Amino acid sequence: MQETSTSAVVQNPSTKVEAIIRAERIEKYYAQPSQNRIQVISATDLSIVPGEILALLGPSGSGKSTMLRMLTGLSTPSAGQVYWHEKPIAGAEVNVSIVFQSFALFPWLTVLENVEAPLQARGVSRDERRERSMKMLDTVGLDGFEGAYPKELSGGMRQRVGFARALVVEPEVLFMDEPFSALDVLTAENLRSELLELWANKAMPTKAIFLVTHNIEEAVLLADRIIVLGRNPGHIRTDFRVQLAQPRDRKSEPFTQLVDYIYKVLTKPDVAPAEAPDQQAGPRIRDQRQMHYQMLPHARPGGVAGLLELLLDKGGRDDIYRLADDLAFEIDDLLPIVDAAQLLGFLKIEEGDAAITESGTEFANSEILRQKELFRDAAVEHVLLLRQIRRALESKSDHTVPEDFFLDMLDEQFSEEECLRQMETAVAWGRYAELFDFDAGRRRFVLPDMQDEDIAAIEDAK
Ligand code: ADP
Ligand code: MG
Repeated sequence: MQETSTSAVVQNPSTKVEAIIRAERIEKYYAQPSQNRIQVISATDLSIVPGEILALLGPSGSGKSTMLRMLTGLSTPSAGQVYWHEKPIAGAEVNVSIVFQSFALFPWLTVLENVEAPLQARGVSRDERRERSMKMLDTVGLDGFEGAYPKELSGGMRQRVGFARALVVEPEVLFMDEPFSALDVLTAENLRSELLELWANKAMPTKAIFLVTHNIEEAVLLADRIIVLGRNPGHIRTDFRVQLAQPRDRKSEPFTQLVDYIYKVLTKPDVAPAEAPDQQAGPRIRDQRQMHYQMLPHARPGGVAGLLELLLDKGGRDDIYRLADDLAFEIDDLLPIVDAAQLLGFLKIEEGDAAITESGTEFANSEILRQKELFRDAAVEHVLLLRQIRRALESKSDHTVPEDFFLDMLDEQFSEEECLRQMETAVAWGRYAELFDFDAGRRRFVLPDMQDEDIAAIEDAK
């Protein structure tokens, strides 16, 4: 429990501007029947300042929704304090709205009545209610739907109602808890751009947006600042600014670098996060040596096969977090497998979805021997270390190479411990693909069809 914000990389202390909402060492724990209590959030400082979209990103169960509830005043911290314009939030007149993933509309009210509801709760007169609601429905593209009931609308339109209802009260801070997660990819994309447009054109009086999401690309697309939460208990792992100009290009180098950076922070919960990449220099000249070897994700080939088969079963595409849930996997265990499949060109990550590629589909549909061949081709094509080991074995007359030869190259780039893990993974992949074998006694790579006697003979001949 002592691990708190001290372990975080705080590159963005928003201390200079007066915060709208400021949380000071807030914690949350839940009582248990057994007297023990479960700590869900460890002591955390966090400020929401005007002018920015702040994304709170983290695996499910890391406490994002709990944090949002405390910051809005919906839930009281077990320790620490939340301030609204420097007054304790409990007694303050808080002007925030929340958009939920589940839309949370009243099914028995029409679209218009749903949007009017929060105004009615605030005692706004009937005429003004109607006028403001109609205007807001127009703004979010629901002109003509005011008499419809939620069940008559598509998911995307329901979420538009959710936005209209949230914005109609002109909140100073707009909170959103995974607002696009229940929508299909295209609808989500449209709504995101429309929201950004409203924000950029100042079409809403809202001064700050707080977005909870588990979608890395979504955070990088929208946010001016990203906070990544770790779990058990929830704590800030990194907090940094996104300085890319809007509209952002998912395919640009700084964008993908940032996505990779966050991905690494999320996949390595035990490693202190590095600094976020510098985003201002444009495409950077890469340090050749540093970029030499890819980091092999520590996943077994069988895991990659299992994931691809499951993905194919689900129509070739699924949200990574949903996959983890379905498999009853911790996301941190699933991500290296996803990473490995991606490295091998068997799947692509698009908006937090894992999408199987053509070669991934072929792999998943093949018999085990054919899978090995396809894995071998992919490994040689995409993984430098495996390609080098194989080449070295083929070109040497005795077809064996000591492990140290490759360790010496790897240790330019990785820690000693990581070098060993990289080797272990390379051996597992190489063996599976029958690219090479590894003689653990002699610490040498050998071509796979070589028998022990051959190796011994070669050794003797020296
Ligand atoms: P996230 O939104 O990141 O998925 P939540 O904030 O919903 O995470 O939950 C964080 C953790 O707190 C989870 O492990 C969840 O089980 C636990 N939790 C949430 N609400 C309660 C509660 N009322 N009682 C006990 N545990 C809870
Ligand atoms: Mg949640």
